Amino acid sequence: MKRHHLILLVCLALIVGCATSPTGRRQLMLVSEDSAINASKQAYVEMLKPYEQKGKIDNNPALKDRVYRITGRLIAQAIKMRPDTRDWEWSMKVIDDPKTVNAWAMAGGKMAVYSGLVIQLKATDDELAQVLGHEIAHALANHSAEKMSVAMASTIGVAAVGIAADRKGLALTGAALAAALAVQRPNSRAAESEADRIGIELAAKAGYDPRAAITLWQKMAKVGGKGPPEFLSTHPSPENREKKLAEFVPQMMPYYEQKGKRPTYRLSG
Ligand SMILES: [Zn+2]
Repeated sequence: MKRHHLILLVCLALIVGCATSPTGRRQLMLVSEDSAINASKQAYVEMLKPYEQKGKIDNNPALKDRVYRITGRLIAQAIKMRPDTRDWEWSMKVIDDPKTVNAWAMAGGKMAVYSGLVIQLKATDDELAQVLGHEIAHALANHSAEKMSVAMASTIGVAAVGIAADRKGLALTGAALAAALAVQRPNSRAAESEADRIGIELAAKAGYDPRAAITLWQKMAKVGGKGPPEFLSTHPSPENREKKLAEFVPQMMPYYEQKGKRPTYRLSG
């Protein structure tokens, strides 16, 4: 049985095989982006449901407005960078959970940020734009489908994923479950570098100070009482993160300093 699955996987790998990311990196792709987007729609609803039932989604109007305003400006830039994402059903939700320092993005621009990230980091708008820009970059670069592919390949088949479903208490199966598990898996360091590079550019073009990328990661490293924040376990530090971000800053400053009003994408609440 196991062998059968392996052969199937190899065949799939040969058919779907690898893709190339926006920065030219080869990605393992067992799941097409379209199916990742579809699976993520279902996974997104399920992931948010427990919070929704407790009234813990977008329940702080001031924080919601702030996050939506920043995200809207970032999405407008994301669409300029990758025009086909205009058709995505972009979504951002603020989860009321002051203890959790985290944010994530699924395929197709389905995102969430936990209130703990804003509160515990005392994040400025510029810093928040860096986190959210980084998350949007993961979606733009199709990292979710890549992580889903890894989740599926490493568990070998839907049966094993089914067992994981019981453990997580999620009413999901197959690709939708892989999408939910993917946001809990660490990105590769290569994917992190890519998201850093794209994220700082989106933020600068949306009018947010690129120097905040450096202070953000410094704050992230310092926060956390009992252990490192969730965000750092799913977003491992690529080599010389701060140094590389600092190198991007001079290139990004002209975007940031551009005059005029920045376009925005209207998120439905
Ligand atoms: Zn990341």
